[in-house]
Amino acid sequence: MNLKSLILQALLVSDFGPRITIKIVERLREDILNGKLKSGSEIKDALKKSVLDLLTSKGSNTELRLGFRKPAVIMIVGVNGGGKTTSLGKLAYRLKNEGAKILMAAGDTFRAAASDQLEIWAERTGCEIVVAEKENAKASSVLSQAVKRGKEQGFDVVLCDTSGRLHTNYSLMEELIACKKAVEKVVRGAPNEILLVLDGNTGLNMLPQAREFNEVVGITGFILTKLDGSARGGCVVSVVDELGIPVKFVGVGEGVEDLQPFDAEAFVNAIFS
Ligand code: GDP
Repeated sequence: MNLKSLILQALLVSDFGPRITIKIVERLREDILNGKLKSGSEIKDALKKSVLDLLTSKGSNTELRLGFRKPAVIMIVGVNGGGKTTSLGKLAYRLKNEGAKILMAAGDTFRAAASDQLEIWAERTGCEIVVAEKENAKASSVLSQAVKRGKEQGFDVVLCDTSGRLHTNYSLMEELIACKKAVEKVVRGAPNEILLVLDGNTGLNMLPQAREFNEVVGITGFILTKLDGSARGGCVVSVVDELGIPVKFVGVGEGVEDLQPFDAEAFVNAIFS
């Protein structure tokens, strides 16, 4: 097998997808042809550098933008089962440890057990929570009520859970737009962040998901979950490169402390380890 095929195979195995794989190989083409890349370690280093460049070239600001108006509002969105509620709980724990007063909003009114699950996280992290007062409540009213309470009672951050379902579901997308408008009405400039949760196991489906959510509500960052398993999450490189939106956190387990700020270099090293 020649060098180019070896590189292609390495990238495809790591879930990079064909588009980004071709882009990386094109970038390395000259060095390959000149015989500059000879040893395995030289190839590995060149690949790592190339992927790191793709991840950071459009800015790699992984800090949360919480603005100066209180409360800051963070909406967590994504398809079902990706890890929205869990990531919200872990993020609450993290921000609370940094000294912020956190209010959770159980905006996933579609899945019956979702607000119970969030209540467990509220207890676990010692945060307060707003849940729907009646069955079939609109997600947008729950979020609006939570942000109003956040404003009146001096909370620093309101973390809003939202319903999952597939990114192709029309009513879900309509609901997300309504949620965004509802919080904007209460605090100007809100939501400060709309974080899309991407399951590290999703593979190439990540890209259409990210495109769709971004077109509908405007995503400001990603949370890449389940990196503690066998998933390497290589496909996120393609997502970041195409949309120019940074990964802000990675999920590495189900415990309260298992959310880490995204470290592009560590991520790339893990992919090529
Ligand atoms: P949601 O439907 O998007 O709200 O997803 P959940 O938060 O309910 O998560 C779905 C499942 O994935 C649960 O069993 C979580 O414990 C699990 N999960 C979420 N994030 C992670 C992670 O980073 N690592 C692991 N191993 N499991 C996770």
